[in-house]
Amino acid sequence: MKTKYIFITGGVLSSVGKGVTAAALGRLLKERGYSVAIQKLDPYINVDPGTMSPYQHGEVFVLDDGSETDLDLGHYERFIDTSLNRVCNVTTGQVYEEVISRERRGDYLGGTIQVIPHITNVIKERILQVSETTGAEIVLCEVGGTVGDIESLPFLEALRQMRGDIGRKNSFYIHVTWLPYIGATGELKTKPTQHSVRELRSIGISPDMIMARSDHPVPEEHREKIALFCDVHKEAVVPMETTDTLYNIPLMLEEAGVGDYIYKKIKLQERQKPDWGAWKKMVASIRCEKEEIKVAVVGKYIELLDAYMSVREALCHGGLANEVDVDITWIHSASLEGDADLKVLEGFDGILVPGGFGKRGIEGKIRAIKFARENKIPFLGLCLGMQLMVVELARHHFGENSPNSTEFNPDTPHPVIDLMPDQRDITDKGGTMRLGLYPCHLQPGTLAAEAYEEKVVQERHRHRFEFSNAYREELGKAGMVFSGLSPDERLVEIAELKDHPFMMGTQFHPEFLSRPYRAHPLFAAFIKASLDNSKD
Ligand code: GLN
Repeated sequence: MKTKYIFITGGVLSSVGKGVTAAALGRLLKERGYSVAIQKLDPYINVDPGTMSPYQHGEVFVLDDGSETDLDLGHYERFIDTSLNRVCNVTTGQVYEEVISRERRGDYLGGTIQVIPHITNVIKERILQVSETTGAEIVLCEVGGTVGDIESLPFLEALRQMRGDIGRKNSFYIHVTWLPYIGATGELKTKPTQHSVRELRSIGISPDMIMARSDHPVPEEHREKIALFCDVHKEAVVPMETTDTLYNIPLMLEEAGVGDYIYKKIKLQERQKPDWGAWKKMVASIRCEKEEIKVAVVGKYIELLDAYMSVREALCHGGLANEVDVDITWIHSASLEGDADLKVLEGFDGILVPGGFGKRGIEGKIRAIKFARENKIPFLGLCLGMQLMVVELARHHFGENSPNSTEFNPDTPHPVIDLMPDQRDITDKGGTMRLGLYPCHLQPGTLAAEAYEEKVVQERHRHRFEFSNAYREELGKAGMVFSGLSPDERLVEIAELKDHPFMMGTQFHPEFLSRPYRAHPLFAAFIKASLDNSKD
């Protein structure tokens, strides 16, 4: 079978859930027995989002191969439960970098290098590489931003050309739009959708399907109107009302007949009837009334919760595994600094400190960790959270405030967390951290080994600093257990504390590998410990 391509563009507004829609559609096709991969084309000029502030961009999602990608890749992997790779997130920066290096090499000798065809050709190469590298039979390809943005034009032009290259029956174009609601008259408006489709057509792309997002039910006549003005079949106008849980979206798409419609259009053979049993059970268990536990997440990017997308999802998965609702309170670490009253941390069943970079809010996180240790509240520290757990224990053990990470105090007399030796000579910031999947050996008889029920696991990393081995013995005496180590035992991957119900920090990011019906073992264990704590 020739690879089938589904292209997804957005109109009217950004942030209407295009990424989740692509992810849900991927699930719909996977349930029919096809192998699916999803790619995001991002029009910004950064080579990857790794150098952007979480405030600009939200979470940086890391793949097995160490690529730093858009957070939509997290949605994709959680929904289709397939590990994606580097070519699944392409940016304008990467495309230009490639074209310019080819030009310098002399690959185009004699030619004038232009957006069309040189830039668009590289974009098309990258789209084709998805099935070549993943073996996917169906590739979904989402373009970031909205139609009308200057910077996405080369991507849209490449998508337009793709139909000519691969043929009509192998390509399908979906446009995701937004229907605004006018409170005064109580009606939804289709005009911005009409305009956006007109804009798309002026680029040469006629959508085969329109997904109309809205916060309100979409009346039948609106579907008819959109169909008429935008030249698509009525069944191909899919109203997508905002739903209570993201994981319901594949079920909504199924019910709207999206799978069957796309099947017909791109001439897919029926392989298997979708079996939504397990997925429906998962959605039902998210919705059903359950016991609730309260978890505080102490971070510094909490004004933009997208910065902690995978952490939030992994906590939800951990809740599902324990049949409880996890009520998350986001606490700004800077608000816990100095002599701030820590009363705000009282009453939580568990405390989590996520990853991060830079000095701001560090001392607040350390105070929250101390609070969790002294009050025996289950604690999970992710990457920076683990490093600060080490700093906090060292401060307690040495009875002074000087132990630190050299990221925050290069002159500390006790550099318990220090730059990794292979990072010392690196000056470039982009893509130079310790990134991606590395093995971790679990030490028998520890909380971590018990949670994983495995001897060796592979986890995703994104860091420059590490636990300093000069302090292993001393902190071991203070009750720290090094429960996960690199195969050569040089790197501490997981640390935990004795004489505490559950105090654990991971140098890696377990949140990236958590799935809705396969919660990450450490998140499941953390929620279980928090649940036990809530009953005490
Ligand atoms: N800033 C720390 C480091 O670079 C932690 C990174 C993180 O939390 N992802 O090691």
